Amino acid sequence: MPRVLLIEDNVAVAEAIRRFLERSGMPTAWAPTGARGMELKKSFSPDVVLVDLGLPDTNGVSLIGWLSQKHDCGIIVVSGRGEETERVVGLELGADDYIAKPFHLREMVARIRAVHRRTHSRAPANPPPSLHHVGPFTVDLQRRAMVDASGRPVVLTGAEFAALQTLLEAAGEPVSRERLSEAALRRPWRAEDRSIDQLIFGLRRKLADDDRGQRLIQSVRGAGYVLARNGGGAVAGET
Ligand code: CA
Repeated sequence: MPRVLLIEDNVAVAEAIRRFLERSGMPTAWAPTGARGMELKKSFSPDVVLVDLGLPDTNGVSLIGWLSQKHDCGIIVVSGRGEETERVVGLELGADDYIAKPFHLREMVARIRAVHRRTHSRAPANPPPSLHHVGPFTVDLQRRAMVDASGRPVVLTGAEFAALQTLLEAAGEPVSRERLSEAALRRPWRAEDRSIDQLIFGLRRKLADDDRGQRLIQSVRGAGYVLARNGGGAVAGET
């Protein structure tokens, strides 16, 4: 069962959520402010953190940035009406899911379980090598960073990085637009949806390998996209 940290300033809402989560078997700690949330993150060691975007002392978005740097817990954004922009930025910064108010407590429990499953498997007992070569670039999955051949950082958005990671983990197998959409945009793919193609277009531009003009990410008809076999692969001995 995941340990849950709830960062929410509304006492009545927080109390209702905490009671429900505890009844569902999830040990839950509650922080009414961002500052208290940061303390409890360290002392309570939650598996999943629920972050209300409207907090009295902290900008919820910067709190998500702080949490996601640790890579050791799942993050769910809880947003109210009029906070769509912050919610999107939160997802870009590394939040794993979002819940819009008002929500059903049962749905919240299901989302927490799903995020826990997903983020838990991020840190398996035998972690795979975290450094990968993509053409002339080196990708560090642990630090979520990429550098070019001369060591200069290449800045990717959260969605671009998630798409690249999914392609890398497929190890030369094509990845469908459905899977990329779930992994990078956290929503189901629809046939008329061009967002994945736009995302790949942007990623290809950042991965442009001018020397050979080679496309590191190739499209596969009817299947999706694949990272060129000679473009990927773990870096031996650099785990
Ligand atoms: Ca609030």
